[in-house]
Amino acid sequence: MGIFSAVIESPLYSSATTLHDLSHSTGFVVARNVAVFFAVVFWLGLALWVNRDARRRIGDPILIFFATLLGLAAPYIGPVVYLLFRPAETLDDVRSRRVELRALEQQLTRSQPACPVCRSWIEPDYIACPVCATMLRQQCATCNAPLEPLWQLCPYCASAIEPSQADLDAALTAETQTITLVDDIPLVPQPETRAADA
Ligand SMILES: [Zn+2]
Ligand SMILES: [Zn+2]
Repeated sequence: MGIFSAVIESPLYSSATTLHDLSHSTGFVVARNVAVFFAVVFWLGLALWVNRDARRRIGDPILIFFATLLGLAAPYIGPVVYLLFRPAETLDDVRSRRVELRALEQQLTRSQPACPVCRSWIEPDYIACPVCATMLRQQCATCNAPLEPLWQLCPYCASAIEPSQADLDAALTAETQTITLVDDIPLVPQPETRAADA
């Protein structure tokens, strides 16, 4: 029995020693340590990325905390879950869209015609202000179409208009003021100055 057991056990014993030796050889240990090191670095890097991305997209500090916790507590899977549920727009995108909308709204309200005397809202083809009865423009003597003050000819019936010199001066002044008003509107939205104002 002693011989048999020696014959059976010796190859097993030798293979176990080989495995044991292999798992303790310097090359294997170094490779394993490097793999673990990179796995940990990748895990922490992903958690850091989740934190930075959440701060760009989420305003609520508590939600940012939970997003970071998700990225940190569930290695590799947490960041993927975050990626699926994160807000589509960054906070900067939302802010610049709001500023653009506000600038557009301002431009629209400014370009809407108003009575030069009482500032009430008027349609572009009004001849007189319905609120304060100011004459806004003259009518064509031939076809009664409303005429712009600078026009020398009625565009609807081609009859000549003879404006008085005083009217022409007033019209030119009004035109200059309109151009100055339009120039005042910033073409590019400036969030810095708006933030300073608020
Ligand atoms: Zn008016
Ligand atoms: Zn006419």
